[in-house]
Formats: sequence, structure tokens, C-alpha cells
Amino acid sequence: MAPVTPGIHHVTAIVGDPQRNADFYVGVLGLRFVKKTVNHDDTGTYHFYFGDGEGTPGTNITFFAWGEQGQRGTFGAGQTQTTAYLVDEDSLDYWADRLAAHDVEVTREERFDETVLGFEDPDGIGLELVAADAPSDATPWADSPVPEAHQLKGFYSVRLAVSEFGPTEEILTDVLGFEHEATDGGRRRYRSATGGPGSVVDLVETDQPRGRMGAGTVHHVAFEAADEATMREFREAYKQQEMKPSEVIDRKYFRALYAREPGGVLFELSTPGPGFAVDEDLDSLGTSLTLPEWLESDRDVIERQLLPFDGPSIPAEK
Ligand code: ZN
Repeated sequence: MAPVTPGIHHVTAIVGDPQRNADFYVGVLGLRFVKKTVNHDDTGTYHFYFGDGEGTPGTNITFFAWGEQGQRGTFGAGQTQTTAYLVDEDSLDYWADRLAAHDVEVTREERFDETVLGFEDPDGIGLELVAADAPSDATPWADSPVPEAHQLKGFYSVRLAVSEFGPTEEILTDVLGFEHEATDGGRRRYRSATGGPGSVVDLVETDQPRGRMGAGTVHHVAFEAADEATMREFREAYKQQEMKPSEVIDRKYFRALYAREPGGVLFELSTPGPGFAVDEDLDSLGTSLTLPEWLESDRDVIERQLLPFDGPSIPAEK
């Protein structure tokens, strides 16, 4: 049987200042800072991971922080437009108030019979909170500034913007195992055939030219592959669709494979394990700069190149 992804594993975006990034995702959104490392392909750049209390796959949004001097991106076709987190229905008013108190502009709308709060992070990354009857694997984080009842419950969906539905839809349905579920206005919704947390992908068509990668844009969206063997099956299926997948790469916390789908969005496949506790205790996730073994000998040089960052600060509640 052809493999099926259960859903989103992580989303990775590019931002400017690392301090501002961490202060927002921890201090405002209440996520846990679960890993501080560097981009393995660009070791002068921080790679941050923010997730639930344990860094569970399907809850982690990650960032390359290019600094304020880094190139800004422009949104366009071939990009992830928004990343949506699941929240409880009862939490929507809490979040509308909390975001407003932190000077974040929030929209509220109904889509696919769900209430959605929309806003942007300080770098312009599009985010949403969706109240839906959907499963969650998220573990609360006891030290979050957000009360447990209102904490984000992992990803719900991503919205991808492409020039035309067809080619991207074909990869979603024929390779990754998504099924077309509904259409609402110009938005097509797909759900993983196996369901589970973070199993929704929305597609929209845009007239805008191809987006340009840079700060304020999403770099890639990663879908889960059960294990490395499954990943290799997906790899063969990509090749049959004339995509050009990477090799399977060791990202220390998971194995990864990259391939750009024909609409231009960079898709990653990631294994659930081994996870973030391979190099830090669960209690101390995100407290040290972790490096893969093959970069340890360069640690001094790497640490000197990194931008100033004091760890996430949690602002006094207004
Ligand atoms: Zn990734």
C-alpha cells in the first residue's frame, strides 16, 4: 500500500531578530522553547524550535533567525501563507484579548464552519488559531505564561498559496495521501486519509508571482513519515512525479528529506524520532546551544558568529 502522511510534523520560517522571535513565541503565544541550535546548512544562523511541553512532533514551529540585516522575503506563489494552531472553542476570546493586549492586530472569521483568529508574528509570518473538533497530541507546558486550558494544542493546518491548484493537488493526493474534503470560496481543503493531529492542508490560488525566500516568509512545511523506510517510499513516489527529492538527511532530532512540489512549495518529510531529548533532558530543553556531533569541533567559532540572544523573556502581563 502506498504510504500516507498523518499530517504536519513542523513548519520552518525565516525571521530577523532572534530575541524578538523567541519573546513572541514564548512570551506571547506561550510555547516552550524546546531547542536552541544552528541551521546545519548555515551554521552562523540560529535555528530555534518552539513547541508544546515536550516538543512533540506536530506542535513545533521553527525559525532561522537571519538578523535585522538579513534579506527580507516577499510573499507570493509557492509559499505557505498561514500556519494554523488548534485551540479549544472556549479559548478564542482569551486569545483575542491576549493578542490585543500585546498589540497584535487580530481578525476573526468563519471558514469551513470553524471560527478562525488571524494575525501575524512580529516578522509578518501569517498565523491562525482555529477552534475545531480535532485531535491533539500536545502536552501542556507547566511554566507557560498561558494557562493550561488555553494553550495551543499543536498544528491544525497550513494554507499553501499556488498559481494553480492542479499540480500541487496531485502531489498532495497521489503521493502524500491527502483527500479533497471540501471547498469554501476559493479555498480547497485536504485532509490526510489517516487523520490525526495537524492533518489539514488548505490550498488557495494566487495571481502573485513566485514569492522570494527571506525574513518574514515560511521556508518549508514538513509532513511526518512514520520511519526512514516510509520516507524512501515517498522518495520513489516523488521521483515518479518528476520531482527531485534530496537524500535522507540526519537532522539529529529526526531524519529529513526535501523536495519542492511543482507549485513551488518546499516540502520536507520528517520522522517522529528520535526527538529533542537526545541531547538535553526533557526538563532542560532549550537551555543550551546544542550542536550535532559533526559541528562540535567548531563550537567556539560558531558561538562567536551568532547574533546576541539572551533566551526568551516573558513580559509582565498587561
Ligand atoms: Zn524542517
